[in-house]
Amino acid sequence: MLQLYMPLHFLGFVYREIKNALADMEKMFRLLDVNKEIADAPGAQPLKLEHAAVRFENVRFSYDPAREILHDVSFDIPSGHTVAVVGASGAGKSTLSRLLFRFYDVNAGVISIDGQDIRSVTQTSLRAAIGIVPQDTVLFNDTIYYNIAYGRPEATRDEVIAAAQSAHIHTFIESLPQGYDSMVGERGLKLSGGEKQRVAIARAILKNPAILIFDEATSALDSKSEKAIQDELRNIAQNRTTLVIAHRLSTVIDAHQILVMDKGRIVERGTHRNLLEIQGIYAQMWALQLQEEH
Ligand code: ATP
Repeated sequence: MLQLYMPLHFLGFVYREIKNALADMEKMFRLLDVNKEIADAPGAQPLKLEHAAVRFENVRFSYDPAREILHDVSFDIPSGHTVAVVGASGAGKSTLSRLLFRFYDVNAGVISIDGQDIRSVTQTSLRAAIGIVPQDTVLFNDTIYYNIAYGRPEATRDEVIAAAQSAHIHTFIESLPQGYDSMVGERGLKLSGGEKQRVAIARAILKNPAILIFDEATSALDSKSEKAIQDELRNIAQNRTTLVIAHRLSTVIDAHQILVMDKGRIVERGTHRNLLEIQGIYAQMWALQLQEEH
């Protein structure tokens, strides 16, 4: 009986492992929102990164031909600068980050990095240059170590720990009974929204990309976690070309430039101070937010 039980038990184990791996893959593809129409152009060359300067030039885009989402959007993110995008829900903010990562191609206009149209370079080189901290971080059903190391699988243990320290999640991990070997994800420890974003920040730190996209979580974190995440963002954005999709104005105060989007158009742009001075939409949003805080 035992002779039969052991192989069956083993098969059951293999089956569960494969099922988990498939579930992880499915989740990853959902996360990457893989669009099969996006392919490398014939003769595509690797991106030649020099300054990591990003440019959107007269970009138009629609998910569905009947409804244009971005209308003639142009802006620059000079090397090492942070540009933050604010605006009402549905204005098209996250769409900008999806286009920069080339989940979709623009319908008109050009997105370029260091003068190279992102449609003309290999997707692998483009995605290697960009780190994303998404709104909703997908955790794999694996250890927290694996989940951080995913940012750069060949990283050493010391590098993974250093990234966790910079993302201020190391102390939390060490406090878990199984430390870095704790299982997380649906079948493991559930992390809070703030902890998940810190894992994503640690992944991004480990990847050390020249360009960073930070899509702030829509759901409010408690104000202490929120402040901590904003501080960590400031740290990793330093000396990187950064696009921040902001849902709270407190995140954008220090940005080199703030873009205010409304219904797929940039309607105001400038620093926090400039925008308050012109007393337009941004100034109204700011006043409203202050009111809510009080
Ligand atoms: P929020 O602040 O709520 O995150 P946002 O400004 O980031 O909003 P986007 O996510 O860029 O807005 O969406 C812009 C518009 O595009 C919305 O009207 C949305 O319904 C639509 N949209 C977004 N993703 C898709 C998709 N995959 N297919 C079709 N329409 C989409």
